[in-house]
Amino acid sequence: SIIPIKALDDNYIWLINETENNFAYVVDPGEANAVISTVTQLGLNLAGILITHHHWDHTQGISELQDFAGNNLPVYGPAHEQINGVNRPFSGNEHFKLEFLNDIVDVIAIPGHTSGHIGYHIQGALFCGDTLFSVGCGRLFEGTAKQMLYSLTELTKLADTTKVYCAHEYTLANIKFALAVEPNNQALIDYQQWVIQQLELGLPSLPSTIGLEKDINPFLRC
Ligand code: ZN
Ligand code: FE
Repeated sequence: SIIPIKALDDNYIWLINETENNFAYVVDPGEANAVISTVTQLGLNLAGILITHHHWDHTQGISELQDFAGNNLPVYGPAHEQINGVNRPFSGNEHFKLEFLNDIVDVIAIPGHTSGHIGYHIQGALFCGDTLFSVGCGRLFEGTAKQMLYSLTELTKLADTTKVYCAHEYTLANIKFALAVEPNNQALIDYQQWVIQQLELGLPSLPSTIGLEKDINPFLRC
């Protein structure tokens, strides 16, 4: 199962676990407290952390979570970015197995938002940090537009059913821009209604899917 932990203003820390055991992994913990209270409530043990890029809102919780879970806690992250606590560096195009998950993790290099940004593809679920958002993409802080276009194109090669777990709830603001670009995109108009409903219920608009994003995300349609 994959559940969202809300953090900071609009971040999601995704928690991954399997029903066969009590171990959990979290992606991009921008703060520790929300993670600690969630794993404690659910009776889970924190088994590792996956990091997509170096920004503080994705990494600030690492050291406190290492203290909480023990200093040998595996922290997977980008090899080409300076991040305290990362002890399993990856640069892209690697495949590895998380100790307490059955599935293989594929690491994908997706530079653009930052220059060493990586994504994790785990059995139909994509954790893409701040590269691909629902109906948008990350700001170009370090990379070039060309790199971002390359990264987004790589992600469109994943199956249409792949679920997209990005790190921020930016969807509604992104839709405003997308509708300015494509005012007659009926899939986008329908999606806006659904997103408004979800948010009113206090639910995330995520995960999206690669197939849906191909229909509604202007950055996959350029
Ligand atoms: Zn970022
Ligand atoms: Fe971020």
